[in-house]
Amino acid sequence: MSEPLFEIRDLKLHFPIYGGLLRHQIGSVKAVDGVSFDIFKGETLGLVGESGCGKSSCGRGLLRLSEPSSGEVVFDGRQVTALSHKEMRAIRTRMQMVFQDPQASLNPRMTVSEIISEPLNEHANLKRRALIARVCELMDAVGLNRAFLNRYPSSFSGGQRQRIGIARALALNPDFIVCDEPIAALDVSIQAQVVNLLKDLQEQFSLTYLFISHDLSMVRHIADRVAVMYLGKIVELADTELLYQRPSHPYSKALLSAVPGAVASRRADAPREVLKGDLPSPANPPKGCNFCTRCPHVMDICRTTEPELKAVAPGQYSACHLND
Ligand code: SF4
Repeated sequence: MSEPLFEIRDLKLHFPIYGGLLRHQIGSVKAVDGVSFDIFKGETLGLVGESGCGKSSCGRGLLRLSEPSSGEVVFDGRQVTALSHKEMRAIRTRMQMVFQDPQASLNPRMTVSEIISEPLNEHANLKRRALIARVCELMDAVGLNRAFLNRYPSSFSGGQRQRIGIARALALNPDFIVCDEPIAALDVSIQAQVVNLLKDLQEQFSLTYLFISHDLSMVRHIADRVAVMYLGKIVELADTELLYQRPSHPYSKALLSAVPGAVASRRADAPREVLKGDLPSPANPPKGCNFCTRCPHVMDICRTTEPELKAVAPGQYSACHLND
């Protein structure tokens, strides 16, 4: 394992809820509620879980696009959470984000050239000729025809628009990219192309990814390790093949049972483990284990004591009292 690029300790993102006549704070949404993990240089860490479990908030928290409530985020030895806005602006050139919906994340009134050169104009101070040369280089890298330099996003397909977003993210030679559901808005036929492009670019530019997705098959294809999130917490973190072959946490088992053939040790005709009930509100999570309202193995201790994320095998961590 290489050195950690990110060291995240007890990170919390709690968003206040205001109510009443005087708009007092009456509670908070615990979108991310005390997660700790490392992201190693050159790896892809998959982050999976149901919608609303806090995956995107976690990614945004690492880049301080959403301000953490508490906890530590250390990026390449620097405490990101302690940096001023000016220092943060400088370091953010090394960390970028690719968004879910390329349609919404690209300004329809800007040409491809303007979109890709936007971060360069802000941070790189290149002369016109060098700027265009760099934009063309980036278009080549993501497989876009440089003849389309002056076209607008509306004249591209969804997959091509996502390539524009990726080119923009690469413009400043980042070390790290949060890919936030980058294929969720694309046709199935295009999804694999974009994931393969991300893999090629990772190799070419020595990138480190946090790959957020609810598509477990695609995560298996791209991730070296996977963190499973449930209601603001990481319930399992494991090497990808270990997780898919031998998931430990009851929630991971249920998630993976919904993907045919995902878990090698499951018989093809084994019944799917259907999760009962809805995801509880992150404004009012259950006491003890967050999963206790839906877990088929719930015990008394689960309703009072929060389980810690502990090693259950080399390269595999799980937060469940069944491992005690
Ligand atoms: Fe289920 Fe208890 Fe384990 Fe939580 S700690 S996943 S409720 S068995």
